[in-house]
Formats: sequence, C-alpha cells, structure tokens
Amino acid sequence: MERQGSQTTQRVVFVRGRMVVDGRCNSCGDSVVVAEFRDELSHREFGLSGFCQKCQDVVFAPHPQNAARG
Ligand SMILES: [Zn+2]
Repeated sequence: MERQGSQTTQRVVFVRGRMVVDGRCNSCGDSVVVAEFRDELSHREFGLSGFCQKCQDVVFAPHPQNAARG
C-alpha cells in the first residue's frame, strides 16, 4: 500500500564534497550538514522545525545540567 503523507522533500546539495541541505538552520543560520543528523528522527525534526542537529541538541535537551557526557 502506498502511503500518502505530506512528507517534505528537502533538496540536498553538495558543498565541498559535503552533503548539505539546501537551506539554513532556522536558529543559528548555519549550513545544515546531512551527515550531522544523529538519526532519521533528527533529520525529520529538521523538516519540521528547521533546526540543525546542534540546535536540536540545545533546544530539545531535557536537562542540560544533567546531560550525560561522552
Ligand atoms: Zn542550528
């Protein structure tokens, strides 16, 4: 069965051999490198919020003080 979702297709371009999303992070304004997304979920979150992985880490961190290191 075919899924009829409203999935956004992000245009991907190559900049200096790196795969980046054709667009900028909504938060920090940096180029968004596809490889930096931790997983599919983070990539999808970018489609929703427009935040790069770095900003997602900050925005969605549950408790920055208790964040596990390593
Ligand atoms: Zn960002």
